[in-house]
Amino acid sequence: MPKLIDIPEGTDVVDVRKKMNKLLSTARNSAKPDKCILCGKLQTSFCNSHSVPQLSLRNIADNGKVLHASLLMGIDVVDIEKGVNNSGTFHFICNECDGTFFQDYEDEQNLKSIPTDKMLAEIAVKNILLQLSKRGQEKELYRELQKQFHAYSNLENLEGIKELDVRDYEEELQFHKDIADNNISGGYQILYWSVLPYKVPIATQSAIALSKDFEGNEINNIFDISESVRMQFMHLAILPLKEESVVLAFYHKRDKLYRKLRHQINSLSEQKILQFLNYIIFAYTENYFISKTIQSAIESNDKLAELGQENSGYPNLGFLGPDNLFGMGYQPVGMDKIPNFLDCSWAVT
Ligand SMILES: [Zn+2]
Repeated sequence: MPKLIDIPEGTDVVDVRKKMNKLLSTARNSAKPDKCILCGKLQTSFCNSHSVPQLSLRNIADNGKVLHASLLMGIDVVDIEKGVNNSGTFHFICNECDGTFFQDYEDEQNLKSIPTDKMLAEIAVKNILLQLSKRGQEKELYRELQKQFHAYSNLENLEGIKELDVRDYEEELQFHKDIADNNISGGYQILYWSVLPYKVPIATQSAIALSKDFEGNEINNIFDISESVRMQFMHLAILPLKEESVVLAFYHKRDKLYRKLRHQINSLSEQKILQFLNYIIFAYTENYFISKTIQSAIESNDKLAELGQENSGYPNLGFLGPDNLFGMGYQPVGMDKIPNFLDCSWAVT
């Protein structure tokens, strides 16, 4: 399988892993805010919040462990197997908010009935919190890399772009939080919701700025980073329950770029929709967790590896040869080229 980061032969991988972990934890610590972004109260310690509810992670865990997306990103130096306790977590809100704000949706019974607007708002808030926390960490990671290795010649530009992201995410967070706090209804548009009668081997939850719809037409222009452009997100949640799975995709009606996709989805079969959503997980997100039962199916699939390293239909660094720096002629991996893990044939028992 091609790897994004090639580790020279003879390198002490354990040593590199230790250094990476230290760097990441330094970045994590300096990225901690001083107050809880949900309630505004000053905090000295933050909750170990799960972006994907533990109730779902536990349902696909093997001896308490799940596999992480780094399995596909070709990053050898990061652990690919982790305990549920450390999977997809962020430290950005207080214990009290973590224990109360998401109660409606983090509930197996509620998840099995048509989601309320409050539940959808809670999911959106959680997804945006994860993005904000990641951005904060990335910024500190850049600074740390710069301090130790002088890795960037244009750190200010890079930070400027991240600031724009943060501004948008903060607005987005407040927007969905208001809906949850005030129980406002009628704003969300569900693209797809289903309770599948089997347990899928993947758990995920993410805000996604989709760049192309089902037919390949543009939705967000993700290369336009001008200040006036606001990315529009759809939210995806794939949550395995004890014997069933909830598959949910939605957006807020203010995000009109998704209207065409809604019409497309309305005319697709369930099988096609699941195939599309399965593709979105691997093409756009990294916040997914996998049951060990499909580890070998994933590791032996070159198309999945290729897709995991694509950036919106363009090959990522790992695939750009010195004679073709722009990836011209590259054929993006199609949704029918990868296994559909949401299909019942991949169900875990
Ligand atoms: Zn709080």
